[in-house]
Amino acid sequence: MAQAGIHALVGIAVRKFVPKREWLILGIVLGSIFPDLDNYAVAIATLAKLNTQGLHRTFTHSIFTIIAAVVVFFIIAQVRKDSRWTSLGLGFGLGIGMHIALDLLIWFNGVAVFWPLGSWVNLWEGIKPPEWFAKLLDPLEMLFLALYFLWLAKAAREHGTNTGFLGTLRIWTIVEAVLLVVFTPLAYIMTKGYATLFGVGYLVSITAAFVITIRMRQTVEA
Ligand SMILES: [Zn+2]
Repeated sequence: MAQAGIHALVGIAVRKFVPKREWLILGIVLGSIFPDLDNYAVAIATLAKLNTQGLHRTFTHSIFTIIAAVVVFFIIAQVRKDSRWTSLGLGFGLGIGMHIALDLLIWFNGVAVFWPLGSWVNLWEGIKPPEWFAKLLDPLEMLFLALYFLWLAKAAREHGTNTGFLGTLRIWTIVEAVLLVVFTPLAYIMTKGYATLFGVGYLVSITAAFVITIRMRQTVEA
């Protein structure tokens, strides 16, 4: 996981380079955010006191997940006789692929690119960021999600899309800003319980980003 907000913004950035097909960019942005929802599996395993090894950057960060997503959405498109679902699936697969590439390039950890076939790919083998920086990466999640929401608000105003949702979006932007301000010092001063507390804030935030992207699809695609 690089920051979910960075993944979303990179998804947005590629819209200049892909053909204009309904739901394609929506798929790319959703696919860019989706892989890190595997943190729900980590959270559930933690609550159940199970081993969390191999739950993050594995089953949602794999070439085979991309293929599965494209196939599933293609089948839905056939059933519903609506080709937009094929575009959504292609975008979703592309988004996951971009997410994996970005994780490999700018994260300090490996990705199980060929899960379930084992073998992690790690371009950062043996490199460890300084501790202060590693700690800062957590609250920065909220910063980049806030930036993504600000971009959505700006684009919505420019295109006159989803204007009825701007009030709710503003609330979520403020929520992220507050979480950023709260979690930045906590990352350094809290020792016990920080991971759980941050985990809750993080899952709420990334889920909000996913739902808001769907809700504001006219803006994402405008
Ligand atoms: Zn990731």
